[in-house]
Amino acid sequence: MPERWFGTRVLVKTGDITQEEVDAIVNAANPSLMGGGGVDGAIHRAGGPAILEECKQIRRTQYPNGLPTGEAVITTGGNLKAKHVIHTVGPVWKGGTQNEPELLRRCYWNSLKLAAENGLKTIAFPAISTGVYGYPPDQAAQVASRAVSEFLKQDDRIERVVFVLFGEEAYRTFIEHCEFDVT
Ligand code: ADP
Repeated sequence: MPERWFGTRVLVKTGDITQEEVDAIVNAANPSLMGGGGVDGAIHRAGGPAILEECKQIRRTQYPNGLPTGEAVITTGGNLKAKHVIHTVGPVWKGGTQNEPELLRRCYWNSLKLAAENGLKTIAFPAISTGVYGYPPDQAAQVASRAVSEFLKQDDRIERVVFVLFGEEAYRTFIEHCEFDVT
C-alpha cells in the first residue's frame, strides 16, 4: 500500500480509516449526527452503538438543530482502535461560490483544535466532503493540506496527522494536488 510522509508529522496513505490506531479518527458526518452512508456509516458500524448514544446526547444538550457545517464535536471511539471520534460536517459542493473552501478549512482546523484541547496527539482524517457531498477531490486536497499545515505551524501539541484516502485513485489525486508546508 502506498504511503508518503510530509515532514515528520504528516502521513498520507490509502486504507480504511476505521482501522487506524490513533487517538482520534475524524468522521465526515452530516448535521444530524445520526449516522449515514460512506465513511460515517463505516465508523458507526465498526465502533458500535456507544458512538451514536453520545451523538444523541450532544444533539440534546448542545446542538438541538444539528451540527453546523465546519464545526466539530468529540465522542468515544467505542469499539474502534481509536479512543475517540471527532465528528465534523463538511460543506456540500455547490459549485464553489458558497464559501465551500472556507467551510472545509474550518472542518480541519476545528477538528485539530478539538483534538489538541482534549490532549490528543495523533489524528486521522478522511477526505471530507469528497464523497456524497461532491467536493472536487483535487481542490479538497489543496484546502485540507493548507489547513493542516497552518495549524501545525502554530501548535506543537499534535504529533501526527494521518490522511487516509479510500483507494489508490483518491490517494494519487491527493498526492498530486496537496500543498503541504510542514517540517
Ligand atoms: P461526505 O458526505 O463528506 O462527502 P463521504 O463519506 O460520502 O462523506 O465521503 C468522504 C470520503 O471518505 C470519500 O472520499 C470516500 O471515498 C471516503 N471513504 C468512504 N469510506 C471510507 C473509509 N472506510 N475510510 C476512509 N475513507 C472512506
